[in-house]
Amino acid sequence: MVKAIVGANWGDEGKGKITDMLAKESDIIIRFQGGANAGHTIVNDYGKFALHTLPSGVFYNHTTSILGNGVALNIPVLFKEIQEVVERGVPKPRILVSDRAQMVMPYHILLDAYEEERLAGKSFGSTKSGIAPFYSDKYAKIGFQVSELFIGADALMDKINRVCEVKNILIEHLYHKPLLKPEEIYKELMEYKRMVEPYVCDVSAYLAQALKDGKEILLEGQLGSLKDPDHGIYPMVTSSSTLAGYGAIGASLPPYEIKKIITVVKAYSSAVGAGAFVSEIFGEEADELRRRGGDGGEYGATTGRPRRMGWFDAVASKYGCRVQGTTDVAFTVLDVLGYLDEIPVCTAYEIDGEITTDFPVTAKLEKAKPVLETLPGWKCDIQGIRKYEDLPENCRKYIEFVEEKIGFPITMVSNGPGRDDIIYR
Ligand code: GDP
Repeated sequence: MVKAIVGANWGDEGKGKITDMLAKESDIIIRFQGGANAGHTIVNDYGKFALHTLPSGVFYNHTTSILGNGVALNIPVLFKEIQEVVERGVPKPRILVSDRAQMVMPYHILLDAYEEERLAGKSFGSTKSGIAPFYSDKYAKIGFQVSELFIGADALMDKINRVCEVKNILIEHLYHKPLLKPEEIYKELMEYKRMVEPYVCDVSAYLAQALKDGKEILLEGQLGSLKDPDHGIYPMVTSSSTLAGYGAIGASLPPYEIKKIITVVKAYSSAVGAGAFVSEIFGEEADELRRRGGDGGEYGATTGRPRRMGWFDAVASKYGCRVQGTTDVAFTVLDVLGYLDEIPVCTAYEIDGEITTDFPVTAKLEKAKPVLETLPGWKCDIQGIRKYEDLPENCRKYIEFVEEKIGFPITMVSNGPGRDDIIYR
């Protein structure tokens, strides 16, 4: 069976933890979109890890981890990450890289940084990992597939020259930076080839066989619905689709094979980067939630920057679950809210004097004000509880309130960062 694990919010919902947990029962875990621009934090028997590129299934002996054709493949980052997990005692993971995955080129990272510098205060809050220039080039048809590392020196050099010609016009006249040297890029690609060669695979064919063999397959999404370029808060979005539906394309699987879509929804809100964030809170209130949030605070796994904080947003989460095609909700980081006397929840938006529970397009979203309802807190630590009935009554009420507002079944409640901190309903 194929299951997708995706986010309903702005990312950082705890998908890594849920993937690591479900990977125990899985054969294959696939990253199908995004790149090294976001991270998953995982706490397990080996310690605490921040993965950026590797799928969150690398901690088991029995799993195969795949980087699908839809990812932005940063080869040096991938190899650094493999090295790091192995150095910390994790058995060398079995990894396959799609021959159709495209590579983040050194100039993608440069161009990302140059553009952020040019935009200055009006930037999108890019992590400068080269993701936007990478996907732009992919769809402009001047990207480099892993398979192209093997086409021979002349053909590869020829393409590098053609691409550099275009890039250098921008670099010279828009950014006023040093020009790209095609020979250096070729050398770097030969280095990438050396690193990636043992892992390259016709993933499409591999997965077709795996389906025939009845393997358990997990798709692991990066970021969340609201960062999807089509259905999110455009233009403050990421550059590849964050939706389960894209899993079929970015991994190379028939869409009808995705039987379960587990959407991870966080018990409060956090976001990185710019963009409207209706239930955002500030000052002391935000600082306290940020400090207590996640596992060791709400700070970016890739950049370390403090995340923006907010109360649970039922409007955004309902929409986020809907566009994912949710079959199950995993409701995460609930334990963090145990310190609050009262817990505000954003249940509707007020836009131009009208109340709505439908998530609007960006121009309207920017005008939205939160309508808050307040629930009583449970004022205790719920970590370690394993049965739903054992949760404090107010905690169950919070879960059931959220479930009713979003309209999708919460079948898992995560009450701690560890693998076993989970309550099935
Ligand atoms: P992802 O990008 O969706 O995988 O999410 P992140 O890894 O960025 O953020 C989740 C953070 O919350 C990580 O530090 C996790 O270890 C932590 N986490 C996940 N689930 C829970 C939970 O139920 N409770 C607590 N306290 N932390 C959690």
